[in-house]
Amino acid sequence: MSSSSLSSRFCFNSECFEFRLDHNRPGWRLRTGDFADLCDRCASVYDQGKFCDVFHIKASGWRCCESCGKRIHCGCIVSASSFMLLDAGGIECLACARKKSCFGTQFFAITVLSFPISNF
Ligand SMILES: [Zn+2]
Ligand SMILES: [Zn+2]
Ligand SMILES: [Zn+2]
Repeated sequence: MSSSSLSSRFCFNSECFEFRLDHNRPGWRLRTGDFADLCDRCASVYDQGKFCDVFHIKASGWRCCESCGKRIHCGCIVSASSFMLLDAGGIECLACARKKSCFGTQFFAITVLSFPISNF
């Protein structure tokens, strides 16, 4: 008795009507902690990071990275892990956020090292 396979014979993508999951592949992470079951076609689109560009192009919720201007579908669970919210508003893609946090760590380390502790 399996209780969770009710809809798992369809591709998880609601825009897609592939009815075959012999080769289902994991997509994004669901709120339940499971992964979306995608058909081959959708999974490869997802792997390339183009899922929202292909299937959600007309949906609302698109915003641009404040640093590089890359468009990210923020109103969407598929892209939920590919951007960061900025303290000052707006969003930043993960690549830009990583660059900054790297720099931040270095800056912090330098500040700590050059602080004249012995003066106290
Ligand atoms: Zn599909
Ligand atoms: Zn999307
Ligand atoms: Zn960016």
